[in-house]
Amino acid sequence: MKKVAISACLLGNRCRYDGRENYNAKLLEKLKGVEIVAFCPEDFAFGTPRPTMDLIETEQGIKALSNLTGADLSPPVEAYADAFFDTHPDIDLFIGKDRSPSCGVRSAKLYDREKNLLSAEATGLMATKAVEAGIEAWDAEAFVENSQSNRTSRLDV
Ligand code: SF4
Repeated sequence: MKKVAISACLLGNRCRYDGRENYNAKLLEKLKGVEIVAFCPEDFAFGTPRPTMDLIETEQGIKALSNLTGADLSPPVEAYADAFFDTHPDIDLFIGKDRSPSCGVRSAKLYDREKNLLSAEATGLMATKAVEAGIEAWDAEAFVENSQSNRTSRLDV
């Protein structure tokens, strides 16, 4: 059975920063018959609810900085991602929540230190780990859109 890693909030888990969810019925319809493995790096690292963070281009590369304190919150998110992919080396497909600084695949906002927008197509920290591992990765909205007219992935779903 194909194995799909998916942002837990898309399954209806109330793990968003504000304690809400992003349940996506159309997406789950497309994933019938596959094994789903949920993840949420931010809930694991910081709990829920929690202050938001943004991706910032820094001198040390792209970091997720707290919008409350300015602290670099990247290390625990990246450590969670490393542990997740070590535990699940056989993931066939990664589906991340659009626009998330952790889970967005080609949809996260990237700013400079003055909060000027540099890109709206950046990759979140956990999605970056999936891409680096060679896993096919999609934003949830794009996956649903494309799968309505095409077979978009190795899953053929
Ligand atoms: S987008 Fe990612 S980090 Fe944010 S709530 Fe969903 S699973 Fe958690």
